[in-house]
Amino acid sequence: MAKKTKQKRNELPSPSPKEPTSKKELIRLEKQDKKYLWHPFTQMQEWAKQPLTIIQEAKGIYLKDLSGKRYLDGTSSIWVNLHGHQHKEIDQAIQKQLKRVAHSTLLGLSNIPSIELAKELVTITPKGLSRVFFSDNGSTAVEIAIKMAYQFWQLQKPSRSDKKKFISFSNAYHGDTIGSVSIGGIDLFHQRFESLLFKTHKIPSPYCYRCHLNLSYPSCQLACTDDLEKLLKRNHREIAGVVIEPKVQAAAGMITAPIGFLQRIRQLCTAYNVLLIADEVATGFGRTGTLFACQEEKVTPDILALSKGITGGYLPLAATLTTERIYKAFLGSYEEFKTFFHGHSYTGNPLGCSAALANLKIFKKERLLYRLKGKVSHLTKILQPLWKRTHVGDIRQAGLMVGIELVRNKERKEPYPLIEKVGIRVCEEARRRGMILRPLGNVIVLVPPLIASNSELSRMVEIIDLSIEQVTEEKQ
Ligand SMILES: *Cc1c(COP(=O)(O)O)cnc(C)c1O
Repeated sequence: MAKKTKQKRNELPSPSPKEPTSKKELIRLEKQDKKYLWHPFTQMQEWAKQPLTIIQEAKGIYLKDLSGKRYLDGTSSIWVNLHGHQHKEIDQAIQKQLKRVAHSTLLGLSNIPSIELAKELVTITPKGLSRVFFSDNGSTAVEIAIKMAYQFWQLQKPSRSDKKKFISFSNAYHGDTIGSVSIGGIDLFHQRFESLLFKTHKIPSPYCYRCHLNLSYPSCQLACTDDLEKLLKRNHREIAGVVIEPKVQAAAGMITAPIGFLQRIRQLCTAYNVLLIADEVATGFGRTGTLFACQEEKVTPDILALSKGITGGYLPLAATLTTERIYKAFLGSYEEFKTFFHGHSYTGNPLGCSAALANLKIFKKERLLYRLKGKVSHLTKILQPLWKRTHVGDIRQAGLMVGIELVRNKERKEPYPLIEKVGIRVCEEARRRGMILRPLGNVIVLVPPLIASNSELSRMVEIIDLSIEQVTEEKQ
């Protein structure tokens, strides 16, 4: 337990981490938040009216707010945390690196953690990926992938500068920067910026619960991939690449792709000589039960974007990996200007890379992927009773990523109108019951840290079930 500290409760600056904050301090912070901060994806007019949950500290899978209330971290702090908060080994790795250098640059220099991490990433990612380009968030990892693919075709001999277009999926989410928004497919986030975006070919994603072809798996024989085939047949000469979130379209509401879909996309890309760009920013690092979702279908993309879980949820870091074929196209003498002119100030940050190396060590040392199997099947089992709920339309799971789609009418699969805020209300109810969740529209999302035990998973699902019941069944 905590040692008694000398600091009095009302004293500034921050109080002892183990003691609840005084009412006065709480009010001060809440006021200042509302005065100075602009929160992401947030209607600030409504934010201003709400009581805030201000997180002060966290340990394992629990977050603690300023009043001392504990919450299960049901979103892994927005899909980044893997081994829990204050994990000893990641803490120590960062502290150790901090004593050497916090940041240097990869422009004209190198550093030890980024060298070691690049080697590790090449070792653990699908076979064939052999080069690592670092950046600092998921959106940039994807931007880099797009620019690499685009330049790659121009550098071919003879040049294939006709290959300039990208194919992306409906419901896709690849980040919020202009390039990654261009290949996104969630209208609510993207439509507003339309005139700023480059044009892509959009094809429907496999959303089996609401199949646009009205078929069902497996008798459909993946008929939804026919669209891509037709498009490639017609337009492959102008297509640089296909961008996909393998296995799970996460931000779309955890829409899981049927088995074989990814492999089929890979085959088509190969057959028509276009690059496959896999965005595993959300699915990477064990989230779907394998280290990378591509590995489930033994697929190697031409370019792979990683971020979120890469540092175990500690620090911003991202990596874009590619094959020797693509890398080599950029080689030449200086004056040929084949160089990839792209880089960020914090590229290859040594603290981030050290955290990432510690993250990967934990996977090995704790045989995490092996232990994950039992958790995944436990989670499948405890989710079953939720199918009986009147307003649960669909439950989708890939490893420890879960989306529970709520519907107003189950038979007709009729969605709740967004203005009813059903997802938001369920998550507010869960927060009262001690768990942090964030919905995606009418989809309740559960993405627990990989270290969550079976009983903790059960507790989380129980809170979700009760919250769904409370909002959709009792308060009509
Ligand atoms: C979160 C996410 C991104 C964007 O990552 P940021 O770090 O938020 O920029 C890109 N792609 C996918 C699949 C994501 O889930």
